[in-house]
Amino acid sequence: RAKKAGGGALAAYDPQMLAGLVQRLELEADLRLALERDELALHYQPTVDLRTGEIVGFEALVRWHHPTRGMVSPLDFIGIAEATGLIVPLGRWVLTEACRQAVAWGAGSTRRLKMAVNVSVRQFEHGDLSAMVAEVLAATGMPVDQLCLEMTESVLLTDTDENLTQLQRLKALGVTLAMDDFGTGYSSLAYLGRFPMDVLKIDRSFVDRLGGDHEDEALVRTIVQLGRSLGMSTVAEGIEDAGQLQILRELGCDLAQGFFLSRPLPAAEAGRVLAEGSVRALAVPA
Ligand code: C2E
Ligand code: MG
Ligand code: MG
Ligand code: MG
Repeated sequence: RAKKAGGGALAAYDPQMLAGLVQRLELEADLRLALERDELALHYQPTVDLRTGEIVGFEALVRWHHPTRGMVSPLDFIGIAEATGLIVPLGRWVLTEACRQAVAWGAGSTRRLKMAVNVSVRQFEHGDLSAMVAEVLAATGMPVDQLCLEMTESVLLTDTDENLTQLQRLKALGVTLAMDDFGTGYSSLAYLGRFPMDVLKIDRSFVDRLGGDHEDEALVRTIVQLGRSLGMSTVAEGIEDAGQLQILRELGCDLAQGFFLSRPLPAAEAGRVLAEGSVRALAVPA
């Protein structure tokens, strides 16, 4: 629009928009260096069995300790990583680190913790995702049945055939596949049934509305039943209070995550919570 208005009139742009663009370019340049400079870390959020309160696994969530900006949220840099292709080395680093940590926690223990790692649809487009995963599993000694890959509905909606092939290869390896943020995308039920997904993660926006309006409860109940009828286990995301927890239990949801149970924690703290075995909010049976 600005160009049409007059020559190369940058002045026609909103200065705030320009500032945003500059910031984005700066972040992009910094993100390229972040991997080399070891500025990324993983935090781990427990996944809890709603019936027993036991910690059954963790979700690895990437954190960026920027040298001057402090902690940058993944919501502010995963998009940049995807747009630039940096998501490929970043995604490989995340997977390797999460597997390394799971193996370390598993050493000397009989418990089979699940480690869930988020993968972007862009990682399906660049190279052979299943081959990369197989390499990382071999390099870290991670038992394949302990790995879960989380992805959003976009994986089912773009390059459908190629992605389906990749998902089938991952399944053949023995990886657990989870549909993240379910209900926020545009996939139809027919899509969900067509893909070899094992776990349905109910988006936080649905959990958020539990407790008040009865109709919203019906929505979550329907999603739990859908998951069950497709043979998937269900995970509720973003539980923030005891009321939501109780409703989800009653609805027969299998697993849960959320600040009420535990925030995502640095590895050392997550290790301590794991040693306790269950999270405090569920320690006393309801
Ligand atoms: P996600 O995979 O759906 O992860 C859940 C997000 O919800 C996390 O935000 C987590 O901190 C937050 N959360 C958990 N419980 C609660 C709660 O009770 N209340 C609220 N308000 N939030 C809660 P986070 O860590 O900022 O990550 C945001 C998103 O960034 C993730 O959503 C995921 O899509 C993406 N992401 C994070 N790490 C990675 C990664 O390593 N690779 C890729 N590709 N994406 C990642
Ligand atoms: Mg996730
Ligand atoms: Mg999610
Ligand atoms: Mg999300």
